[in-house]
Amino acid sequence: MEKEVRVRYAPSPTGLQHIGGVRTALFNYLYARSQGGKFILRLEDTDRTRYDEKYVQNLYDTMAWLGIDWDEGGSKGGEYGPYVQSERFELYKEYAQKLVEKGEAYYCFCDAERLERIRKIQTENKLPPGYDRNCRHLTPEEIKANLDAGKPYVIRLKVPLEGETKFTDHLLGDIVWKNEDISPDPVLLKSDGFPTYHLANIVDDHMMKITHVMRAQEWIPSTPLHVQMYRSFGWEHPEFCHLPMVNGSDGKKLSKRHGSTSLNEFRARGYLPQAIVNYVALLGCSYDDGVDMYTLEELGKKFKLEHLNKAPAVFDYKKLEWYNGQYIRALTDEELYKWTLPFITGTGDACLEINPENPQPKPKVGPEYSGVAMGDDGEPVCVDSSMNMSSADVKAALMKLMPLIKERLHFLTDAAEMVHFLFTEPAVPPKADIIPKKIDEAKTKEVLENAIEFVKQLPSLDHEASEALAKSYAEKLGIKLGDFMMPIRMAVTGSRVSPPLMGSILILGVEKSVERIRRTLAEF
Ligand code: GLU
Repeated sequence: MEKEVRVRYAPSPTGLQHIGGVRTALFNYLYARSQGGKFILRLEDTDRTRYDEKYVQNLYDTMAWLGIDWDEGGSKGGEYGPYVQSERFELYKEYAQKLVEKGEAYYCFCDAERLERIRKIQTENKLPPGYDRNCRHLTPEEIKANLDAGKPYVIRLKVPLEGETKFTDHLLGDIVWKNEDISPDPVLLKSDGFPTYHLANIVDDHMMKITHVMRAQEWIPSTPLHVQMYRSFGWEHPEFCHLPMVNGSDGKKLSKRHGSTSLNEFRARGYLPQAIVNYVALLGCSYDDGVDMYTLEELGKKFKLEHLNKAPAVFDYKKLEWYNGQYIRALTDEELYKWTLPFITGTGDACLEINPENPQPKPKVGPEYSGVAMGDDGEPVCVDSSMNMSSADVKAALMKLMPLIKERLHFLTDAAEMVHFLFTEPAVPPKADIIPKKIDEAKTKEVLENAIEFVKQLPSLDHEASEALAKSYAEKLGIKLGDFMMPIRMAVTGSRVSPPLMGSILILGVEKSVERIRRTLAEF
């Protein structure tokens, strides 16, 4: 019988979840699903100085938002738990000790001062940095004396001094490293009894019966050391598959210089998880079936390691935006209402913590842009009390608007500005904003005068007939259709960004629309 596939995502909670991490999580998840295996979530929280509880929360939130569920680990537990490394420190100590007993690792009593001295000499002589293996040769008597004297120590791995380490990466093929190029005898257990990443990672992958390690390519330089550690323990190592790099458009590793990278930023910007999942699943993986759109479930059936590309993937923000538009248009009106409401009211995802160094402009969301706030009872309320709208009215107006804005949204955040005209009386825009470039003030006045009659006829016309009517007005006035619509749009909605005009007028109501046109006309 084939061994059950067991894969893991093992983030260190020292930062917000970003695209690279999510891609690793997703590929592991998809591989487990496609193989009927298990996907394990392990928290590698050995770095206590950079640890923050909020990053653990962010991990769970992000996974839940994306719909990536795991079988064991994290908050769920399982047969091989605990799955949080800080709860397993005793185990790592035990295993480090075992390696010492086997003669595969040794106590090192060198203090910080000595290490600093070596480092200095190495820099001065332009030698590669690293431990000089001083304690590798201590006699049992010397070790005992040091231990009896209570000298602090670390445990270091005995990396072979000669020969090479070879492993086969599933994607990249055979990789061979000279052992002299592996870091000289890295620390496994620190003097405070805490494990290093390498020790905890190997012990856990073995104990948790991980069959495939799929992780970012930046871990390749650590892999020869890991292979050596498996050998030292006398364990078989899992299969390694280092995932293709994710670069920005300039060919450099994707970073915040290129734009958003943390998932919180994408969420706060109004991306749908379906779009992110679909796009990220194609970063370094291609199915060659001419299909663009995949659900998480479909991907879970299709995913194969054979679909991975060796070449780095380029993160294309425009392509992701395209996916977002596609998925927005695929939502029902009710779903779109649910997704956009946090942005309209400036709550939920709209308030997520984003990278403080985030170079992106802040999206225009919340009551200031939409005219709608979130009431204490969780129902939307109109900020302008003179509008006399109940929560039910607000919801009804928004629901009517959903099919209209659906066609125009690139991001969920765009909704706030688009709904604004329904919930507040817009100030009459300055004339310069109302008069289209191609026509003059007198003609614009004529447009607005005709607009009153035009608007009054709309309720009795279907969409096509109202389009035809608008065209006939434009023709009569000897102007382009766009130049007929623009002043009306500005008068009725107070903005250039509005949902389709005729539909918007019908939702606002003829009476109110005419009133706004009259108010604007008074300025001419
Ligand atoms: N904790 C490591 C990280 O943060 C895991 C690397 C691995 O998958 O081995 O990326």
